[in-house]
Amino acid sequence: MMRLLGVFLVLLPALAAGAPRPVLVSVDDLPIAGDLHPGAAERKQVTRGLLRALARHKIRAVALVTWSNVKGPEDLELLRMWSDAGHELGNHSWDHLSYTATDSETFIADIERARVRLEEFLKPLDKKGRFFRFPFLREGDTPAKLEAMRSYLAKSGQTNLPVTIDNDDYQYAEPWVRARREGRKKELDRVAEEYHEHLHGVFRDQEGKGDRLFGRQTPQILLLHANEIGGAQWDALFTWLERTGHVFAAADDVLADPAFAEPHRFVGEFGPGLWDRIGHDRRAARAQSDVQDTLQHQAQAWNRGDLEAFCAVYAEDAVFASTSGLTKGRAAVLERYRKRYPTAEAMGTLSFEFLDFRTSWSMAAPSDIRSVSVVARWRLDFPDRPAASGLTLIVLVRRGAGWAIVQDASM
Ligand SMILES: [Zn+2]
Repeated sequence: MMRLLGVFLVLLPALAAGAPRPVLVSVDDLPIAGDLHPGAAERKQVTRGLLRALARHKIRAVALVTWSNVKGPEDLELLRMWSDAGHELGNHSWDHLSYTATDSETFIADIERARVRLEEFLKPLDKKGRFFRFPFLREGDTPAKLEAMRSYLAKSGQTNLPVTIDNDDYQYAEPWVRARREGRKKELDRVAEEYHEHLHGVFRDQEGKGDRLFGRQTPQILLLHANEIGGAQWDALFTWLERTGHVFAAADDVLADPAFAEPHRFVGEFGPGLWDRIGHDRRAARAQSDVQDTLQHQAQAWNRGDLEAFCAVYAEDAVFASTSGLTKGRAAVLERYRKRYPTAEAMGTLSFEFLDFRTSWSMAAPSDIRSVSVVARWRLDFPDRPAASGLTLIVLVRRGAGWAIVQDASM
């Protein structure tokens, strides 16, 4: 009955304020994350703790296997326990490589090896793997690498399972096990307190980010790791989530939300959560369209003969490179234009065809777009003679609420 009620609540069409907020729980690095539990008996005990907490809250998790964490036949038994408990197993690679530090060919070979192994494992259980998750959430540090994995995942029938609540729960695994082995009860309580404080803070922060992006309540995908502190603390964590208006939902119900259909292609060295990826792409698209507007306004100023307005877009310290040499500073650029284009007839009609946009930001994490470079073909049309045309490379940086040209190379 409780389960039916849960499903019903998830299927409510609109997530009005106050309605329960669906959360998918995903667990990484199965069977056990890290190297803290070499003994099979302890590994089984940790697994039992994790499964007990999930069962108590009627959670159906997606649990992602890292095959290099499977130490022997006893660990296959642990994977079976997850599957038998109704959790969906997915692919989290063989060697947990960082895609940033690995070329596409090597990385894809590792993922494919793990996919085949998972398929082999699930077949006798009459199950199939659908989901894949990038180790460290790193999806590619060049556009080509990003595309290579997307194309491989599509071809191999795997879906990249995103994370919206990306946190550092794994940091608490080692201090917890150490305190437990040394029998230091006070230290255990302290680690647990920090674990919850961290997870609550990140959850609120990332959930708020998703809500602001979409202007409504968004469902979340929580990332947790299969570790001993989780076995001991998930019950309290899940209770907190229920008390703060969340309801645990299955993967398909959560992923059906349109927020997960928004395309994103963040290229970077590190792996941010989904809301950061989407936010970054929206900022980049806005920067590009603002820069386009800025340059179009500039062309309009040219076309009404307003060289002052045309040059106002240049930064005070802009550098202008052309075949005739280098001009430094806005005032000098204006002077140069005045000399070369003394009359409306000389100026003609300016238009741009935009050929390429690049944005730059901190590669460490999604952040504000700091600069945009544009390659464009400029064209001047005259009523009485043939048009002139050439290429230009313009670099603009954020200045106040707008954009200023800092470098311009026109030919
Ligand atoms: Zn992982």
